[in-house]
Amino acid sequence: MIYLQGIKKSFNQLPVLKGINLKIEKGEVVTILGPSGSGKTTLLRCLNFLEKPNAGIVQIGNIIVDSEKATKKEMLAIRKQSAMVFQHYNLFAHKTVVENVMEGLIVAKKVKKKDARQQSERVLEKVGLSDKLHHYPSQLSGGQQQRVGIARALALNPEVILFDEPTSALDPELVGDVLSVIKSIAQEGITMVVVTHEMSFAREVSNRVLFMDEGVIVEEGTPLEIFHAAKEERTRRFLQRIS
Ligand code: ATP
Repeated sequence: MIYLQGIKKSFNQLPVLKGINLKIEKGEVVTILGPSGSGKTTLLRCLNFLEKPNAGIVQIGNIIVDSEKATKKEMLAIRKQSAMVFQHYNLFAHKTVVENVMEGLIVAKKVKKKDARQQSERVLEKVGLSDKLHHYPSQLSGGQQQRVGIARALALNPEVILFDEPTSALDPELVGDVLSVIKSIAQEGITMVVVTHEMSFAREVSNRVLFMDEGVIVEEGTPLEIFHAAKEERTRRFLQRIS
């Protein structure tokens, strides 16, 4: 479960998030849509304190943090509740596929090396990479690298997985593979927040779609409500432009 109340964030006096309120139930898959610069990535990063909000309350699972008073320990505690999948994969180039997945388990979760290897192999099987365990990232396609990124997040067994435009760096023919892996994870009931430009994914996989513009959530609803019966003019204009 995620609960945000009054989240504000500015960069150099520029308000990027202007008071975000949001509740996401356990197991929900929420996609965030919106024009470039509307604050989608910043919202995702504020959720796990990769960016510290200037104001507001963040709750993930049973950890609650007031941004204005947040200690390093609290920020770390909330960060441990989530795992992030990045647009550019962010893999360790000098580590193999299985070592990339093991790293978080060993460092963040203090799992023993042997157990970390076993758990990593299990999630790599889920994302269809059992035959690439000992390859290096440079020997993989973009889609395969992103599947390692997803396996790494999954291995941590977090309360929520945050996806920041997970397919936007991929060649179009590789997008489908990665989306179907995300889709299969969604079906396991893991809470997911996905910033994406993939309308078909938003439409087919998410329970709820948020439309952001200029630092606010303009509108939210089921995919049916947003794609076929958006109430706000700004939402309709955005959807017309990109479809
Ligand atoms: P896109 O779809 O292009 O990725 P977005 O909706 O994810 O856009 P953000 O990346 O959250 O938008 O950026 C929102 C605004 O905040 C932009 O104007 C951006 O330039 C600014 N911004 C984001 N991060 C920083 C930073 N670290 N320092 C200064 N400005 C930033």
